[in-house]
Amino acid sequence: MEQSPNSPRFFEEPARQLPVRAEYDVLVLGGGPSGLIAALSAAESGLRVGLVENRSFVGGNMTIGLPILGFLGQKGNQIIQGMPQKFIERLQKAGGSSGHRYCPLHMSLTIVEPELVKTVGLEMLLEAGVDVTLHSMIAGVIKDGRNIAGVILQNKGGREVVTAKTYIDCTGDADVAYAAGVPTEKGNDDGGLQPPTLMFCLAGVDTEKLRHSIAQHPKTYMLDFIPNEYFDQNNQFIVVGLKELIKEAREAGFNIKTERTIIITGLRPGEAWINMTRMAGVDGTDPRSLTEGEIEGRRQIPDIQRYLKEYVPGFENSYFTKTAPFLGIRETRRIVGHYTMDRDDVLNRARFDDAIAVASYPIDIHRPTDDGCTLEWSGDCYDIPYRSLVPLEVDNLLVAGRCISTTHEAMAAIRVMATCMAMGEAAGRAAAICAQKNIRPEDMDVKALQKELLAHGAYLRGAEELSQEKEPCVTNA
Ligand SMILES: Cc1cc2nc3c(=O)[nH]c(=O)nc-3n(C[C@H](O)[C@H](O)[C@H](O)COP(=O)(O)OP(=O)(O)OC[C@H]3O[C@@H](n4cnc5c(N)ncnc54)[C@H](O)[C@@H]3O)c2cc1C
Repeated sequence: MEQSPNSPRFFEEPARQLPVRAEYDVLVLGGGPSGLIAALSAAESGLRVGLVENRSFVGGNMTIGLPILGFLGQKGNQIIQGMPQKFIERLQKAGGSSGHRYCPLHMSLTIVEPELVKTVGLEMLLEAGVDVTLHSMIAGVIKDGRNIAGVILQNKGGREVVTAKTYIDCTGDADVAYAAGVPTEKGNDDGGLQPPTLMFCLAGVDTEKLRHSIAQHPKTYMLDFIPNEYFDQNNQFIVVGLKELIKEAREAGFNIKTERTIIITGLRPGEAWINMTRMAGVDGTDPRSLTEGEIEGRRQIPDIQRYLKEYVPGFENSYFTKTAPFLGIRETRRIVGHYTMDRDDVLNRARFDDAIAVASYPIDIHRPTDDGCTLEWSGDCYDIPYRSLVPLEVDNLLVAGRCISTTHEAMAAIRVMATCMAMGEAAGRAAAICAQKNIRPEDMDVKALQKELLAHGAYLRGAEELSQEKEPCVTNA
């Protein structure tokens, strides 16, 4: 048959022998919020733990200028504790975090300094005895029946294999699960994905002027869900709203793809991170699409920067300092596991016998097809079940982070970083038990895992905690 000039061309890659570079008990793939905490937690067992990361640093999205959301619940109590809290305390000691601040829209924000996340995260991993491999992309897996026998890494040295008894996929994109044949899903019913954002940072911002002008001019600065008085009382904050100002700027010819202004104060005086570029249609698992997203993100920044300078008080003397080190991806693949969390679980405050973490963040969807967001609160906490971390089809794999087994809507709630960290702790401790006892994650005695989590300071809801409501956490200015 004749080939059309447009039909794809293929090369056959010759088979080759790959060296096994390291053998672990537990191997964590991906060093973002979930992976970092998974590796630190697994290492407390004294087992051999490895962590592989594609970039030159650990931290994942904790390094792109975002505050960590979700440490506090909708009633103001602290629902993420254990290893994630230890990490924040260590960061605070190094001057790299604000600690947890109450926020009416996001429940809480925990501002972190990206450079210190990288340094402190790496220090803690090394102190814990985790064997860290940076600059290495997971390129595939080698299967042995229903087990992963090894993970193939592609790096400057070529290709090599690392093996473990139990693996934890913390890549955000479920790269390992997908390569190993776990069924995955992507996007909403129409395949629509939440759009990515290229974060950028401005300095020279008068954040005091900004917050006081918001507090004093409620009509002008109408904010989504955040009462203006909040800004009078808090000097570290997130602004979400100012829709009218964006409307005015758009009418004046500014090209701004989002309807809301999102400003996050940094830890350094005068610093603000801007979460406003929006690249609809970008698929974070497709390199061409990712490239287009990076290009388009940079194209959008000048108009947003000019809008802030000309329309938003406090930005008059601001200047651009940097973009985040990579495009922020909100949504890609989700595994199909033994339980798939859905919208009802979040909104009905589901309780599960196999709960391994507690979350409270609302459903927060940056809608795939227009410039708006959908927010839905549950009023309190919901559990994350262990079964959502256990994939179908592969026996020695756990998954933690935004790609666990959920629907599009539930993912939009569990995706925040404090929740991902708590899942990381559960997966790390579960993987250590599996490797020690030589069992499959599916066969875990979840009660024993829950006891282990509680013994290490993690928070799970008990009957007594449900009956007593805690006072909302009050913040200082
Ligand atoms: C623009 C934006 C704004 C957001 N705002 C907030 C916010 O304000 N607060 C909040 O708490 N959350 C926010 N989120 C959500 C949150 O950042 C993510 O859902 C969360 O970081 C997911 O954590 P994770 O550990 O699953 O994955 P990630 O943080 O993505 O970490 C995955 C890690 O794995 C590595 N990796 C991936 N693939 C491979 C591979 N093949 N080989 C080797 N390494 C690999 C990556 O380099 C990365 O370090 C936001 C997300 C985006 C994109």
